[in-house]
Amino acid sequence: MTVRFSHQWRTGVYISPEGDGDLRRVRIRVELRRDPLTRRGGRVAHFQGFHLRRPDLSAEVAASRAHCPFCPERVLVVTPRLEPCVDGAFRVVEGESILFPNISPYDRRSAVVVLSQAHFLAPEDIRPRHLVDGLRAAQRYLGAPGALRRRDFGLVTWNYMPLAGATQVHPHLQVFATDRPGRLLEEEVAASLRHLRRFGRPYWEELVETEFQLQERWVGRGRHTVWLTPFVSRSVVSDLMVVFPGKARLSDLSVGDLEEFGRGLSAALQQLAAEGVMSFNLALYPAREGSLDPAVSLHARLSPRIYFNPAIGGSDSTVWQHLLDEPFMVRSPERLAESLRPAVSDALSEG
Ligand SMILES: [Zn+2]
Repeated sequence: MTVRFSHQWRTGVYISPEGDGDLRRVRIRVELRRDPLTRRGGRVAHFQGFHLRRPDLSAEVAASRAHCPFCPERVLVVTPRLEPCVDGAFRVVEGESILFPNISPYDRRSAVVVLSQAHFLAPEDIRPRHLVDGLRAAQRYLGAPGALRRRDFGLVTWNYMPLAGATQVHPHLQVFATDRPGRLLEEEVAASLRHLRRFGRPYWEELVETEFQLQERWVGRGRHTVWLTPFVSRSVVSDLMVVFPGKARLSDLSVGDLEEFGRGLSAALQQLAAEGVMSFNLALYPAREGSLDPAVSLHARLSPRIYFNPAIGGSDSTVWQHLLDEPFMVRSPERLAESLRPAVSDALSEG
């Protein structure tokens, strides 16, 4: 097997304070994992007494409504216009989605896509059309002449809700073109190229094949997409990954690809919301512009964000993720796959 899921166990021991003075030795097992592509570490560690609880965001939603720059009465007045324009227009409009430049750019080309007229969409209200229209607007922006240079990456990301880093409650994506996409994607690209040279087959093809055989993290497959949970997830409740076999970039996706992605994602968000997840980060990871080899398949990662302790607003970004770059999972990817499988498989078979 060329895709290896390597892991080790460690055991922590302590003496429980419970019982009638009777000391009790407790052993807790911790699993240390390595990502099969990048070899980055992560661990599955128990978190005693942890339960997902849906946070109440009604105060944040109400407080942000009156001055929201993305609501329909304000968005065309206060948001900036594109320079150069795309298809002769100052903003890109697809259905309810509106794309315009980011006033805080991350790179040479940096835009925001507002996804809905509604100020707030709960995760279970995010429909496939929101995603399809938003991603079509991103395709038009990145597909404009000169938007992407050779060796650039065309990135689409989403911080949904303040806990995930959003500065506005109103749902919106970020789109940008850059030759510096961050260390994680750079490592994935380099490792994917090494894998192709060494084994003669793309890593992403072998990952899909291996995960299908194992079934442990397999969520489902549609005509255009494969859904699984990454062996080393970044979310404490584990991530969902979508692979687009044979596709390298956002520009390669047809409307059929986007619709299937939208259906699966909408179903996954409904299931996650039912469990209490009200926040997430999402990123689409493409191949570099100009690369002709099939080493990297376009893939997406949806990473739920939660409050460890909603009562005190306790964030899930701890020193482990933030300063040690060693994510830990209190719910395993295998358990997340089990919980998402029925709803996502149903949504994928509707096409
Ligand atoms: Zn709004």
